[in-house]
Amino acid sequence: MVSRVIPVDSFDLVIFGGTGDLARRKILPGLFRRFCAGQMPPEAQIVGAARSEMDDSGYREFVAEAIHEFAGPLSEDAAQVEGFLERVCYVAIDAKGEAGWEELKSKVREDLVHAFYFSVAPSLFGDIAERLHLHGLAGDESRIVVEKPFGKDLDSARELNATLAKHFDEHQIYRIDHYLGKETVQNLMAVRFGNVLFEPLWNAQYVDHIQITVAETVGVGGRGSYYDASGAMRDMVQNHLMQLLCLIAMEPPAKFEPDAVRDEKLKVIRALEPVEPYHIVRGQYDKSKDAPGYRQDVENPRSFTESFLALKLHISNWRWAGTPFYLRTGKKLKARTSEIVVVFKDAPHSIFGADAGRHRNVLAIRLQPNEGMTLDVTIKEPGPGGMRLVDVPLDMTFADALGPEAEQATEAYERLIMDVIRGNQTLFMRGDEVEAAWAWTDPIIAGWTARSDVPKPYDQGGSGPEDSLMLMHRDGRRWRELKG
Ligand code: NAD
Repeated sequence: MVSRVIPVDSFDLVIFGGTGDLARRKILPGLFRRFCAGQMPPEAQIVGAARSEMDDSGYREFVAEAIHEFAGPLSEDAAQVEGFLERVCYVAIDAKGEAGWEELKSKVREDLVHAFYFSVAPSLFGDIAERLHLHGLAGDESRIVVEKPFGKDLDSARELNATLAKHFDEHQIYRIDHYLGKETVQNLMAVRFGNVLFEPLWNAQYVDHIQITVAETVGVGGRGSYYDASGAMRDMVQNHLMQLLCLIAMEPPAKFEPDAVRDEKLKVIRALEPVEPYHIVRGQYDKSKDAPGYRQDVENPRSFTESFLALKLHISNWRWAGTPFYLRTGKKLKARTSEIVVVFKDAPHSIFGADAGRHRNVLAIRLQPNEGMTLDVTIKEPGPGGMRLVDVPLDMTFADALGPEAEQATEAYERLIMDVIRGNQTLFMRGDEVEAAWAWTDPIIAGWTARSDVPKPYDQGGSGPEDSLMLMHRDGRRWRELKG
């Protein structure tokens, strides 16, 4: 199957933090892949802007290395790499001072789309926004892309929104959550709203419960001090899992347009009920025979920050009243997997009698690895011997079904950056959405802080603390097994 590549308008993309880890691993390799796909018009230009003193050729070397390390097999095509590097230049800039800004202004051409990617610490967002304005680079054709974390609570998110709003309109601000750029996440909307099959069943009457899991096998790595100040709630649930929850639970928007979609997501967040303490399980990975535990990793022997979190939520609206949503995320678990699982209710009556056992339809939407979906359907077990039933998955791994094109199209960052250039905000979070998510999150964190809640230790390479299994067992349910 051949995917259509629609070239975008010509643009100047400035990456503040162009020498940082995110630029090196995701943004630059992603742009290179779009270049190879033929999506970049010939005049497009990418300007790295960061603190290091470097000239254009030094930066091109940096970009070439990033491509070779992170862009996959396409990086072996020397002519493509060369062609891409010709689009790249560099300005040494100080976000907090005057150095470099006039030079940057001279590189940004008139009458093109201007995108400014803030791939720097959030503490620099205000300085950069201010200087873009002072140097006449914040015109209506300019867009800014801001990275997570977007605040650490409601107050700081409001402050950040207010800072950006001084110089940019909401329609110019692209708050990135790379989960929304994943192929399957968009497919979730296609499956829900492009088929008649699912939507009639997508409610409390037919859905028993929904599980959302984002599990990692890695620990906190080199991000110890950052992570210890945030934990799984701020790092994963408030943003990524919340976005997935919104897409799975929202009402059909009237159109697939940015504000129509985001209005519906916002309604979901606002309909979330406060979470009871006994519906919250926090954990910390314990030390093992040959690996340090969470507290050693973050070098804080008295840390009470969670590296695992499981929650049971309710959405109080007509569609979902009574259907629980179970969310879980954690580090150092047995598999790296992100999955949304919709478990449908039992058939109202079994004509096959008790011996046929209990069978349910389960729709599992896998974000990683191997993006795809499976739908468990109940069939007759083949062979003689009466009517025995068995559940078999209808498996649609996108790479199998759609060919290598689908596999190549999986990088979220590149899709989202192209959306910025196109001016399409559908897959980006609006300011009020982020604030609503914090307004729901803050009291939960305040609650466990006030209770001096101590996270439960859990084994590395397992499924999280025992209490998380109990959260489900109490309701006669169980988590889907973590499989990589
Ligand atoms: P990094 O520390 O690797 O890079 C920071 C960049 O900012 C460097 O290019 C540096 O030169 C530049 N910089 C610092 N101070 C500056 C100043 N005063 N003036 C101009 N430039 C300055 O950081 P990173 O990991 O690339 O992260 C960048 C942003 O992206 C952060 O907000 C981070 O939270 C977010 N983020 C990163 C990742 C990731 O995987 N690295 C993932 C999600 C979000």
